[in-house]
Amino acid sequence: MAYKKYFTLSYDDGVLQDRRLVEIFNRYNLKCTFNVNSGFLGTDNTLIRLGKPVAHNKISPDEVSVVYAGHEVATHAKTHPDLTKISDSQVRMQIKDDMQALSELAGYEVVGHAYPGGTYDRRTADILADCGIRYARTIDSTGKFLPPDDPMMWHPTCHHGDEHIFELLQNFIDAQATDGDLLFYLWGHSYEFDFNVWGNNWEHIEKVCSMIAGKEDIVYCTNIEFLNR
Ligand SMILES: [Zn+2]
Repeated sequence: MAYKKYFTLSYDDGVLQDRRLVEIFNRYNLKCTFNVNSGFLGTDNTLIRLGKPVAHNKISPDEVSVVYAGHEVATHAKTHPDLTKISDSQVRMQIKDDMQALSELAGYEVVGHAYPGGTYDRRTADILADCGIRYARTIDSTGKFLPPDDPMMWHPTCHHGDEHIFELLQNFIDAQATDGDLLFYLWGHSYEFDFNVWGNNWEHIEKVCSMIAGKEDIVYCTNIEFLNR
């Protein structure tokens, strides 16, 4: 059986900017997993980034199945706590409640996760697995194109703001899957495109998408589609 190259995306927090991001991903036929805090759906918030306010407003519960149609909805805990700092029963509640609420809204069984704030340890990973979570993403960039050793501590290739992003994308495009499947796993937050780091930031993600999209030897998939391949 021939090995393949896979490309997957993971975006966090369920913010309104996801609407625009999904339009871009759809235009390029890319597939993304969106990690959502069900307890915050429909609420407004403002973050301060680079000294300026950035909207961190969440989509409404009714929008979940519409905005994320064709992509994957995954958990990000009910209210985004640091899971490593709360009790076993609180971790269980944060995950079980999020799984249940999101499964009802999405219309399918939600089994993925991204750790809120990127913090994780063996204890939290084991509780998540016991709750029925099949994989959980960290924010520890590897710069590599490998499937996860442990899906419950799934380290991404890089964030979209990585200084080597275009070099990494080119290396992946040039790579051959000779010894095993290859995976490029990109993550971020769509609200980050609203503040100025890389010039026009929505152009930055357009550039990323146009570079990686449309390759005959790359399979574009959600996180769970990759695990189920
Ligand atoms: Zn988050």
